[in-house]
Amino acid sequence: MTESKTYYFDSNATTSVAPAVLQAMLPYLTEKWGNPSSPYRLGKKLVEPIERARESVAALIGADSAEIVFTSCGTESINTAITSCLYTQPTNRHVVTTAVEHSATKNCCAALEQRGYDVTYLPVNRDGSLDLKGFEQSLRPDTAVVSIMWANNETGVLFPVAKIAAICRQRGILLHTDAVQVPGKLKLDVNELGVDLLSLSAHKLHGPKGVGLLYVRKGTPFQPLIVGGHQEEGHRGGTENVPYIVAFGRAAELAGAVTVDAQRKLAALRDKLEAEIFARIPSTARNGAKEPRLPNTTSIAFAGVEAEALLMMLDQLNICASSGSACTTGSVAPSHVLTAMGLSPAEARSTIRFSLDYETSDEDVAYLMSHLPRVVAELRTAGSPRTAVRVLQPKLVAHAV
Ligand code: PLP
Repeated sequence: MTESKTYYFDSNATTSVAPAVLQAMLPYLTEKWGNPSSPYRLGKKLVEPIERARESVAALIGADSAEIVFTSCGTESINTAITSCLYTQPTNRHVVTTAVEHSATKNCCAALEQRGYDVTYLPVNRDGSLDLKGFEQSLRPDTAVVSIMWANNETGVLFPVAKIAAICRQRGILLHTDAVQVPGKLKLDVNELGVDLLSLSAHKLHGPKGVGLLYVRKGTPFQPLIVGGHQEEGHRGGTENVPYIVAFGRAAELAGAVTVDAQRKLAALRDKLEAEIFARIPSTARNGAKEPRLPNTTSIAFAGVEAEALLMMLDQLNICASSGSACTTGSVAPSHVLTAMGLSPAEARSTIRFSLDYETSDEDVAYLMSHLPRVVAELRTAGSPRTAVRVLQPKLVAHAV
């Protein structure tokens, strides 16, 4: 517990670049800096590492490497997937999604609505689960695509994507899933899952920010979102980001090597944190079903506490957590995920997400729990969040050192 150590409980926001990943990518930022489309060796020699990375990410998800399109991020992959399904079926103008998607999907759909497309946002139950009957009833003859996330980034709750895929297949409707939070935490096999398109992002699995992928099942009609050069077999224009693609490949190998035992240990540590919070801090509750859920995520409402104030106090103690998805940090609106689950705006605003990683230790959890009960109690007695931060911050700085 050195003064400078960061206690990181926000792995769903991003993860550190693994040393092996950094090592793999560095030569492509230094001596191997060519353009893979160039006719001479400095460039041509980069085609092979890109294809090796493609094979590594394909292996992680049980796909063929020809089914992988590298993109700039998860958000681009999601936008590409949804728009491609619409552009290739011009007479089908209906999209089905859920009310709890990441903003990448939510705002892509909102933009499509402004352009005259029709979007159904399926509601969820109080525990964050989806009603399959309601889902089936939402499908229409003009439904072009269903885009449903596998694992919710705020609560960790899983949707039954394989069952959804079976229904879509029966109806001849394309299915895209945002699986950005899944690699390394659950087994991921596109054929077991039965999806047509799937999005991932490297920075959630110890790769760098700014590289993602879209899986496109063989035979799926496709139109690119980013139009330009012939890169990615014409599926995505733009000179390949060779270092980041190589890094993604290495990160995928590491994520693929995570054992079921390691996943169980991660879930046990998360459960221990949850149990300690419930035992030691009154008026706390988990948001979302206990299972099925990602093994690393817990979303907890601390009644009567403003999450933003709590996060500021925890930051003073070198503890990082989140009050929802990173993309909404700084906005005062309560999480759309939590309000869709039926939480009141006040309950949503009192929620903290802790998301662990294989690097999270028992000591990290012990450090968090050595401060959390006191900080919550102090915030509850201090009244308004602004007053609380003003009054309590100096005290916390003293505790932190
Ligand atoms: N989908 C989910 C579930 C996410 O958690 C995120 C990132 O927070 C994204 C999509 C977007 O990924 P990226 O940051 O690579 O655009």
